[in-house]
Amino acid sequence: PEVHPQTEEYWGRVNPIGIRSCYDEGKRCAETLFFDYHRQHNLPIRVIRIFNTYGPRMHPNDGRVVSNFIAQALQNKDITIYGDGSQTRSFQYVDDLIEGMIKMMNNDINFTGPVNIGNPSEYSIKSLAELILKMIPETTSKIIYLPLPQDDPLQRKPDIKLAAEKLDWSPIIDIKDGLTKKINMDSVCKRVSNILPAYFFKNISAVAIGSYDTLDDRSVDSVYDKKIIYLTNVQDDEDDIIENIIHEVAHSLEEIYSYPINFNFSIVL
Ligand code: UDP
Repeated sequence: PEVHPQTEEYWGRVNPIGIRSCYDEGKRCAETLFFDYHRQHNLPIRVIRIFNTYGPRMHPNDGRVVSNFIAQALQNKDITIYGDGSQTRSFQYVDDLIEGMIKMMNNDINFTGPVNIGNPSEYSIKSLAELILKMIPETTSKIIYLPLPQDDPLQRKPDIKLAAEKLDWSPIIDIKDGLTKKINMDSVCKRVSNILPAYFFKNISAVAIGSYDTLDDRSVDSVYDKKIIYLTNVQDDEDDIIENIIHEVAHSLEEIYSYPINFNFSIVL
């Protein structure tokens, strides 16, 4: 971007034919269509511009920088910085985004937007990697440097004055608090998938949940739907151990979310 921080008035400067153009232009085209519908059909619309967001429940293989670095650190794999890591981004925790979305949808001043919803605290990707490594002290991961993808923006930071003025909104969760929540949740998910095969590998022919790095969509959904574990060929006398582990996991999740979680689980004998 030629304007930093980015205001809503800035029209952007993106490559229309590069490897990330479908993403950039897709968002621009969506705004165009919304405004056409608004003008042509008087359709009430609200347009927000979401800046980099992270939180629990992202797919571990989503490919975004925060989820990549945390997943890599938890698995003791290399932390992959693209380029020299001097490019910057500004990361908002998902709860702040949702609050901004709700305020925007409920605004009764007919404020259509577009409005930036993001956290203006700006970090270099290298400093993000270092922060995550510091927050997961047990990891043996090391930083490696890979080529920077084409058209990767060098810097990004929202100007959020308009959101403050029109919606009385600004983010309240700082990066350390947000990362703590995400790291806690991600490490529980990893633990669930690690503990079980280790305990029961000998006696179990199928564990429906994959290991953390091979989680497919179904098993991720199972974790997040709280239908945590489907096991087959469990021996009669193992029921209790399995139940204990499931309760341990439930307890950890409850601590993170601070509300009770109901688990459905089935043991197929
Ligand atoms: N990035 C990185 N390592 C990764 C994933 C991303 O260094 O494993 C960099 C990426 O090149 C970009 C920044 O982190 O400069 C943010 O990338 P992301 O895909 O999360 O969001 P976006 O590029 O859409 O802002």
